[in-house]
Amino acid sequence: MLNQINGLHHVTSLASGAQSNNDFFTKTLGLRRIKKTVNFDAPEVYHLYYGDGAGTPGTVMTYFPFPNARRGNPGTGEVGITGFAVPEGSLPYWQDRLATFDVKNIKSETTFGQNRLRFDGPDRDGFVLVETDDDTRTPWTNNGVSEDVAIRGFHSADIRLSDVGASAELLRFMGYEKLEQQDNVTRFHIPGGTAANVIDITEVNAPSAHQGAGSVHHIAFSVDNRERQLEVRKALMDTGYQVTPVIDRDYFYAIYFRTPGGVLFEVATNEPGFDRDEDTAHLGEALMLPTQHEHLRAILEQKYLEPIID
Ligand code: ZN
Repeated sequence: MLNQINGLHHVTSLASGAQSNNDFFTKTLGLRRIKKTVNFDAPEVYHLYYGDGAGTPGTVMTYFPFPNARRGNPGTGEVGITGFAVPEGSLPYWQDRLATFDVKNIKSETTFGQNRLRFDGPDRDGFVLVETDDDTRTPWTNNGVSEDVAIRGFHSADIRLSDVGASAELLRFMGYEKLEQQDNVTRFHIPGGTAANVIDITEVNAPSAHQGAGSVHHIAFSVDNRERQLEVRKALMDTGYQVTPVIDRDYFYAIYFRTPGGVLFEVATNEPGFDRDEDTAHLGEALMLPTQHEHLRAILEQKYLEPIID
């Protein structure tokens, strides 16, 4: 069993528009845009990152907005719900706020003894705010959401599968322990992990998901550094997983592999971080391009990347 993984690092999803995506995460949810860059593998598409003030691993929601992309069809083999932690007692505030911003499908529920608020993102992405009373992370508070209610970072990701078995075994191998089960949902966590260390597996009998706008593309797990990442890579490969070589994503190093249920997992390093090419005070303001795409800046800005109005 591995002991290098700390919890979630980031969650990456698909969107249909950069402006609506940016507005939802910064204005409605009050997160900070911490990086405005491009998809390194397809630089005509933005890669937008939102999180706390510094883009701390475990708070970072990222998007590839494809203009006018078709919506995904939810199903099995994907992350169905991304969960953010909010302070105890803050859900009435969020219920009002989300309604004011015309957020769809807002629904209160209690799961595993925790009050939570379900709602849809702009592309019908599945989100939940979960009340927790022991989250010591410092939130970003410069976008009109005060500290007593602001999002702390991720709480959890909920993976929808038709068969829990093989994925549960993989999570255990990665260092997760089964915590409890409620109806068709099994909850796992990493003992001693970060505040973003919960994975739920929901077992449903449904067709496979068809990815599109509103779908989670992959989830990334955090390791401290490159050495630990190589240990995880070797252990996964020794167990029979096909894992990519280490890829330099400028702000972290990444390896990817697909789970038995078809979900794309990434293991990402906490180093070097989002301040490697921008001052923390100005994170996310300018378009940052990786060296290999810098020569495309003019054409990307003029032709492909819609201006985002903050
Ligand atoms: Zn990623």
